[in-house]
Amino acid sequence: MNYPNLINSKLPNIGTTIFTVMSKLAADHNAINLSQGFPDFSCNEELISLVNKYMKAGNNQYAPMAGLIGLREILSEKTEALYGAKYDPESEITITSGATQAIYTAIAAIIREGDEVIIFEPAYDCYQPAIELNGGKTIYMQLCAPDYSIDWEKVKKMINHRTKMIIINTPHNPTGSVMSIDDMLILEKLIKGTDIIIISDEVYEHIIFDNQQHQSVARFPLLAERSFIISSFGKTFHATGWKIGYCVAPKNLMTEFRKVHQFLVFSANTPIQFALAEFLKQKNNYLELGSFYQKKRDYFINAIKGSRFEIIPSAGTYFQLLNYTDLSKEKDTDYAIRLTKEFGIASIPISVFYHEKEDNKVLRFCFAKKEETLEKAAEILNKI
Ligand code: PMP
Ligand code: GLN
Repeated sequence: MNYPNLINSKLPNIGTTIFTVMSKLAADHNAINLSQGFPDFSCNEELISLVNKYMKAGNNQYAPMAGLIGLREILSEKTEALYGAKYDPESEITITSGATQAIYTAIAAIIREGDEVIIFEPAYDCYQPAIELNGGKTIYMQLCAPDYSIDWEKVKKMINHRTKMIIINTPHNPTGSVMSIDDMLILEKLIKGTDIIIISDEVYEHIIFDNQQHQSVARFPLLAERSFIISSFGKTFHATGWKIGYCVAPKNLMTEFRKVHQFLVFSANTPIQFALAEFLKQKNNYLELGSFYQKKRDYFINAIKGSRFEIIPSAGTYFQLLNYTDLSKEKDTDYAIRLTKEFGIASIPISVFYHEKEDNKVLRFCFAKKEETLEKAAEILNKI
């Protein structure tokens, strides 16, 4: 029995995340699941053996609160080698239970009642609830068609004394767009002299195509000094179910981050941290990820070239957007559901990533799949 009016929801407008909804619908209808972003192939056998080895060796109790120092050291070396920025493994790197936890932690550590946080739409869905649970106000900026770029003039106009944070995400989920050096230099100029903090969601840092370089905020000293950079081993090592990631940030920011982290999770999975510290020594394990996924992207878009969907170029991530204006006038949410139920292929409707549910007739398909899965998916899409 429910006692009436017991709860005044803190998130009255939030339902169940689209990833849960579409993956369940795909399972219920035995559809090919290109909706939620996860690989349908196994992660590296060697990595699995390493986790096993460290579990058997008895590394099964709490890790240090900030993470295993060996893992933090190798991440510090990796960040310096790739982006030219030095982060102290003792005080500036924390291992988290996935990027989602890291993002929540950074927001909770910084945002107070009334603070404004700028995010770019279509936006990954964990930012806004975290902002609002912590009393912040989300300020939405739309990425510009057709390439989902940022209109910095508009951003400049939105910045005021209440702006406390800007969340960027490159390569970008769900659009696959990437930020350029120019974007970063403009952002640097915009925030100079303010007390704005950046969260840079870089979970797809290694999944970038066509010889482009990932523009981590770590490359830009004036951004790096006020940024939490967040990444995820789930994306990099095909192990989204392990829920392990990390945050790097200057010491003053990281001190506040850890105050929250220690009471939110205390520490992340121990044997996996040991395994990752060893696995990361082979740099090709992450440096070859871009070309690995570029082949999948190209395989998928070649296979659907003859379809009536319009292909929107993807410069990074493992997502491909398709516009279906020529196929249907239905709302994207309805169309995604119908494709799953009637045609046996599940995708993500992009309108869910806009606070006003803007519907541009675009669906997101995940191509982190075996060739045979992509081939079957293409067969279906070509017939529609
Ligand atoms: N940010 C973005 C842009 C994502 O696509 C995801 C999904 N992996 C996350 C954060 C969350 O990552 P994790 O699964 O490590 O929590
Ligand atoms: N990041 C994944 C995606 O965009 C899903 C993560 C999740 O299910 N929360 O599909």
